[in-house]
Amino acid sequence: MNDNSTESTPTNFIRTIIDADIASGKHKQIITRFPPEPNGYLHIGHAKSICLNFGISQDYLGGICHLRFDDTNPGKEKSEYIDAIKEDVRWLGFDWDENLHHTSDYFDQLYAYAVQLIKQDKAYVDSLSAEEMRLYRGNLTEPGKESPYRNRSVDENLDLLERMKNGEFAEGEHLLRAKIDMASPNINMRDPAIYRIKNMAHPMTGDKWHIYPMYDFAHCVSDAIEGITHSLCTLEFEDHRPLYDWFLDELGTSAHPQQIEFSRLNLDYTVMSKRKLHELVEGGYVNGWDDPRLPTLSGMRRRGYTATAIRDFCSRIGITKKDNIVEMSVLENSLREDLDARSNRALAVLDPIKLIIDNYPEDQEEVLKGINHPKKEEQGKRDIHFSKELYIERSDYMADAPKKFFRLTEGREVRLRFAYYVTCTHVVKDSNGEVIEVHCTYDPATRGGQSEDGRKVKGTIHWVSAKHSVSAEVREYDRLFSIAAPASGKDQDYKAFINQDSVKVLENCQLEASLLTSGSDAYQFERQGYFCQDSVDSTPDKLVFNRIVTLRDSWAKKK
Ligand code: ATP
Ligand code: MG
Repeated sequence: MNDNSTESTPTNFIRTIIDADIASGKHKQIITRFPPEPNGYLHIGHAKSICLNFGISQDYLGGICHLRFDDTNPGKEKSEYIDAIKEDVRWLGFDWDENLHHTSDYFDQLYAYAVQLIKQDKAYVDSLSAEEMRLYRGNLTEPGKESPYRNRSVDENLDLLERMKNGEFAEGEHLLRAKIDMASPNINMRDPAIYRIKNMAHPMTGDKWHIYPMYDFAHCVSDAIEGITHSLCTLEFEDHRPLYDWFLDELGTSAHPQQIEFSRLNLDYTVMSKRKLHELVEGGYVNGWDDPRLPTLSGMRRRGYTATAIRDFCSRIGITKKDNIVEMSVLENSLREDLDARSNRALAVLDPIKLIIDNYPEDQEEVLKGINHPKKEEQGKRDIHFSKELYIERSDYMADAPKKFFRLTEGREVRLRFAYYVTCTHVVKDSNGEVIEVHCTYDPATRGGQSEDGRKVKGTIHWVSAKHSVSAEVREYDRLFSIAAPASGKDQDYKAFINQDSVKVLENCQLEASLLTSGSDAYQFERQGYFCQDSVDSTPDKLVFNRIVTLRDSWAKKK
């Protein structure tokens, strides 16, 4: 991994299996794959699978990870999604090199295998209606019934499949099914579908096909064709594993990959199913797939998440077979740790009010040294301009403040970060009684924020020089949902739990001017949190910053 060579991957039960396969000589080279269906954008759950599959290929000598687009459903798939998926995988720090594949690359081979199954009397064309098929399937307690079409001759099946392929039938008229066991306790083994009719062109194969293979058939065959050694998927496919093995055994493929299941990532305060993400985007509940509140990788990137933080998170949560829900704070802690290490510091006033230093000379200006990064000396010092009129945070002044309020109130002295001690003298109010200016005096003997006589102040506040600061819009993002499990329960409408304060837009924030030249991707606005420029909306004429995450877990406190 280019930017993080010290990252070490903790082991897990899948790596233990691979180690044993190498030790026994079963495999000399490990080949995994990441198989997204290009019907939406990737989310943080996919990152778990990407880190697992690509991570293994990096850690085992000669290892390879394929990126395979599982494009068997032309109605729902778009090249926009293919491009976005590639961008996200690269951004996470992984590379498929020349190993880019599509299930559609194998349509000819898949068809030939289907023909082989028919010839082996292991597949047949069924002509029941969808409703009849459902009734014949049985359920968890009752066995299914065999279709009256199950004993069609090989020749008739071959003829029908060919004509299905050529587009002679309407969708739903026929279905190619595996001939396994309608009484199997595993419903997946009750003559599952292999090919369905879809009279629809495909982005890669044009109008060549009027039938498209089902996932369970296409996936194992594609894995075998590519010589995948370990086919890693999420737990809901555990019950499909007998079918995965059945197809490959019946077909006698030269490779027989091992399917291993692990638990999917679930995060609180968000939703990750593609159907729901589509609904949020298409229903206008969020502003596109890269909305910074979404758990999509493009949204998280725009929000300011770093690839390092996401990889670190995936490594921390590990790979197990236990279903659970990970707290968002675990992800945010990985994020804070990385941002703390990489972000320059800056002073930024988000809700500005004027602070006027009455005894500071009218035309004087000073350049003070601010520390870019308290823990990284090489990140150096920056120049901060100081003058008579500053902006401070409105909440840093309080009238009739209690003793414990260590910031500005009449008669109280505070330190202006990197600058001077100031003592509040009085305020000026507008006709509505709103404070519009806070006035103070400064002590010239406290330059740099230290007093010569050793007197201490309890509070330190941030500020910017009114003449030198730059204005910006700041978007404070918060969790997209107001409850931890918005999508729990079948009938629960998760959209009813969208957090109405998931974004707060602050206009006219005042930022330290060094932000424009310091070249850091992310900043810690002191006392506020981590921020970055919005990659879509920020322009030199109108700066827009996103709050990536707060400094501490304020959500835990609220709860
Ligand atoms: P759908 O919601 O349509 O079922 P999916 O989330 O399974 O889609 P795919 O594009 O099929 O999306 O996923 C690609 C790979 O990512 C699969 O191997 C899948 O198991 C894995 N994956 C998807 N979601 C998660 C998750 N939450 N945690 C871990 N892996 C996931
Ligand atoms: Mg899937």
